[in-house]
Amino acid sequence: MTERAAADERVGQGGQDGEVADLIPMLRRIVGARVGRHPSAEDLVQETLVRVLAARDRIEPGMVEPYAIATVRNLVASMWRQEDRDQRNRHRTHDPGEPERGEDVVIASEETAAIARALERLDDRERRMLLAHEVEGEATSALAQEVGSTAGAVAAQLKRTRARLRVEYLLALENAEPPTERCRPVLLAVSSADRRRQREVGAAQHLLECELCSRLSQPLLDRGPVRDDETQVAITGDPDIVAARQAARDIAVRAGFSGTDLTLLATAVSEVARNIVRFADRGTVTVELLI
Ligand SMILES: [Zn+2]
Repeated sequence: MTERAAADERVGQGGQDGEVADLIPMLRRIVGARVGRHPSAEDLVQETLVRVLAARDRIEPGMVEPYAIATVRNLVASMWRQEDRDQRNRHRTHDPGEPERGEDVVIASEETAAIARALERLDDRERRMLLAHEVEGEATSALAQEVGSTAGAVAAQLKRTRARLRVEYLLALENAEPPTERCRPVLLAVSSADRRRQREVGAAQHLLECELCSRLSQPLLDRGPVRDDETQVAITGDPDIVAARQAARDIAVRAGFSGTDLTLLATAVSEVARNIVRFADRGTVTVELLI
């Protein structure tokens, strides 16, 4: 089987991947225009498809194509950078006097400076909470007590803050001020993998039009699956029923439920938890946001 046929087969499996398989001709055109008959051309197409498949549940359906275009452009650019670096390193091996990995040291200090600048962009409250949790290891429940909130609400806040921090970090690293008012909202929707928000802010269209956001959306999406919208509560006795009820309520609030719906959801979950205590003795309630 040729490499190309293998790639086609891999993404062609199953009807739901059809949309991704449809990207192949376009990606080959883009790669061909940039690298010609370079031996890695087909690898670049395949790598793009793999990344698109991996990121698919983090982006709204209309964003698959802009994301694929951004991805393939990025991969081509980093391939040229890598070849350039290899070229220079080949000379370096003949010169033992030159400090090794000097380039990495410079990159590391640029990254540190970018993190500092990104942290400055957060407001005081966000920054304090994030540092207390990530650096000092303070639990969400303890933070919740301090600010008079619930652990679920604090976790949701931390998640939003991390999403913002990633955006600000990438902007700082690029030393770029976004060219339009829309850039930050789009990047934030991408960073938080919030598909509803991505639709609301017109992220798909924006990524096609905005070169900066198209480039920055990549690292934001290459982070693997998000599991922040899931809470597990071990049920071993009556107090855990309250905890399960609260966890369901917190996630439902985040999902935009209110009033009677909230009560219904919380009641349903506490019923399940109560049945666990009564009939099964112990178990686990998993509350997950499925949107
Ligand atoms: Zn933009």
